[in-house]
Order: sequence, then C-alpha cells, then structure tokens
Amino acid sequence: MFSFCEGYKDYLSKAKTEREAVRIALEAAKSNGFFSLTEMPVGSILSPGSKFFIEWRGKVLLLGVVGTAPLEEGVRLVGAHVDAPRLDLKPMPLYEKNSLALFKTHYYGGIKKYQWTALPLALHGVIMLRDGRRIDVVIGEDSGDPIFTISDLLPHLAKEQLKKSLDKAVDGEELNLLVGSLPYQGDDKVKNKIRLAILQLLNERYGLVEEDFITAELQLVPAGPARDLGFDRSLIGAYGQDDRICGYTALQAIFDLMNPKHTSLVLLIDKEEIGSTGNTGAQSRFLEYAITEIAARNGMTNITNVNRILANSKAISADVTAGVNPTYENVYDIYNACYLGHGVVVHKYTGSKGKYDANDASAEYMGQIRDILNHNQVIWQSGEMGKIEVGGGGTIAKFLAYFGLDVVDCGPPLLSMHAPLEISSKVDVYMAYKAYSAFMAS
Ligand code: MN
Ligand code: MN
Repeated sequence: MFSFCEGYKDYLSKAKTEREAVRIALEAAKSNGFFSLTEMPVGSILSPGSKFFIEWRGKVLLLGVVGTAPLEEGVRLVGAHVDAPRLDLKPMPLYEKNSLALFKTHYYGGIKKYQWTALPLALHGVIMLRDGRRIDVVIGEDSGDPIFTISDLLPHLAKEQLKKSLDKAVDGEELNLLVGSLPYQGDDKVKNKIRLAILQLLNERYGLVEEDFITAELQLVPAGPARDLGFDRSLIGAYGQDDRICGYTALQAIFDLMNPKHTSLVLLIDKEEIGSTGNTGAQSRFLEYAITEIAARNGMTNITNVNRILANSKAISADVTAGVNPTYENVYDIYNACYLGHGVVVHKYTGSKGKYDANDASAEYMGQIRDILNHNQVIWQSGEMGKIEVGGGGTIAKFLAYFGLDVVDCGPPLLSMHAPLEISSKVDVYMAYKAYSAFMAS
C-alpha cells in the first residue's frame, strides 16, 4: 500500500493538467507494451492479450487489453477524468495597475474562490506560436523557478471583505495573478512600462508576442509536489486527486491485467469538471468512435455491432466522493456516509435532491459488483455523498449509461475535494486499484 502510493504521488506531482496526465499515462502505456490501435491497418485482427491505445487530441486516452470472449459480449470499462479545477488564463490576460503586472484568470470547475489566494501557483500549459510550433510551459515547479500568486487583502483593511459571504468574498474578476513589477528600461515616453517589460521578457525568453496568449491554454495550479500527510504518513495531500486518483489506479490495474476474459478498457477523459462537454468530454462521441475502431479490428464494420458491444458492456465510473470531515459532520447523513481509510466507495447513485441527474445503478448490477469486490478481498464501503438537501454532484456515469450499459460509481473518498490541497487515504488508493483490477478481470 505504501510503496504503491509512491508511484501515485509521483504521477500527481508531474501530471497537473489533463494534457500532462494523458502524456505521462501514454508514456507509461507504451513502456508496458501498448501500441497505437489507429496505426494498425484496418483488416488486421486483434488477438487475445493484445494491448492497445487510442489517444485523442492530447487530452483523452483509451487503453485496452483484448479478452478471450467475443467482443459482442461487451467490454469492461473503467472511466476516470483527468481534468481538475484550476484557474485558466483569459485570452488577453496581461495588464498593469499600480506599478504591478498582472494576469486576468477565469476559473475552471467548481472552486471555492477564496481558497486560491495567497498560495504559490505554477503555470502549466501549451502555446501555439505563429510558425505552428507548440511550446509546452511549466513554470513554478522546480525549486529554482519563480512562482505566481493571487494576492489577498490584509486583515487590517479587510473589514468590509470579511462581512461578505464566503462565495462573494473573492469575486471571479478578483482572481488576478501577480506576474511582475520591474519597468521597461527604454523610451521614457511609453506607457505601462511594467506590462511592456513582461512582454519583452516573454519575447526574449520564449519568442512570444501578446497575440500568442489567444492561441494558448495556460492553467494555474498549486505549485509543488504531492506529499505524505500525518505523522503516520497514512494520508496524501496533493492537488488534482479528483480524479487522477482514479486515473492512476485504473492505469496500474490495466498494466497488471493478464489475459482477461472480456476486452478491458481504461478511459481517461477530459472536461468532467465543467459538465463533460466539448469534443474531449464524456458527452462527445469519442467512446463510440473508439469502439468502432476496436470493432473494425475484430472484423466488424457494421454500426449495429458498435451499439451491441456498448449495450452489452459493464462499466465503472471511477471518480472520487466526499469522505466525512470531522469538523463538518452535520452535512453528512452519518448512517450513509463514507470515511477515509474505510476502502473504495461504491455509490449506487449520485445526483442531487430527488436524485436529479443521477445514474441509478440497478440492484442486479450492484449485486454483481458486490460479488466481484467480496470475492477479491477488496475493502469497500457504500453510502451517499452528503445529506439530501445539502447539495450533491455528478460524474461521467450518466453519460456512459446513455449507451444502455450497466455502470456504477466507484472511487476513493477525499477530504477538501476541489481545494488546492486535496486529501486521500493510502488505504483507499490501494483499494481502488484492487477494485478496478478485479472488475476488469471479471
Ligand atoms: Mn471527479
Ligand atoms: Mn470534481
């Protein structure tokens, strides 16, 4: 359990964006013998035990191991998301005010905005240059790198701010990133010399002009590596555990999978945090496309086959849930709550209020999942995320269910979900790995 989590922490420390999560997963897959399915000529046939991948736009990765059973019997799919809440740069981010240079940001996903001020942030992402080259950016992770931050108001002058409700205390337009303070040393007549000096520096160092910010995806994430937490080192404190905790454990599970009966797939998908929209989200038709490509290499070219494979499949929506926070116990129904260190959670449904937007797994499927977990010594728990009227949330489960397949939510509980520092238990990390392994082998 402890040694398993060393690899997990390393992944978290390096994979802080969906692109990085996919790139590192792909490198690991290749070194574990996975090959590009789409580079295989149509007409060539996959054989049991073959390991393949389909990468999609640098932000989605599907890994597969071919089973011995006919593909029409369906696949075993574990789907996790690799995007995480963060601050994106606006298309025109740079401005100067009161002798400081700042970037405007636009938050991505469900954050408590006040949590993102006064902490070290790193800049990750890609920039497309005018000559078509793409540069990858990571600034703020090495100890010699500068960091960035969003400055907060000092308590001495925060009398009015402190009267505001938490969701209003820091406004979206107030999440402005400090990026510099030295003025341009040339022509005395130019205005905004600090802004100009930053542009000059970016041009000298990276060959950037201001317009290149428009053709970029730059994300601010908490700087620094994942760490052990607690005297006993039983917990992990890190950014982005929702949902790379499931991504990593699912990856390890498929790497270790030997000769499965059913073709097993791990899907690392993007855009869950903003509703699974867009061409790299779970609401896109990527999965149908991927199954079509797999079916074609099993001698099937008819769209009916694709629908049949999907409908006969079984899936786990691998995502995190809320562990009970001892300080805020009142938001949980303690008879239906999940606890850190009590194993991986199986949620029959998520959603909110009267189960709106839920995928509600059938009793039959819950029974199948229970058998798999119990027969493989997986420590697991069940319950709901929190009290009915307090809130709720969703996962990609309902978008997988769209194909008619059976799907259930299964993943570790976290504390401080969506915060810059999320907390997991090493027990639950390991049990997620065991659960996904057992499921894919079933
Ligand atoms: Mn999630
Ligand atoms: Mn989330």
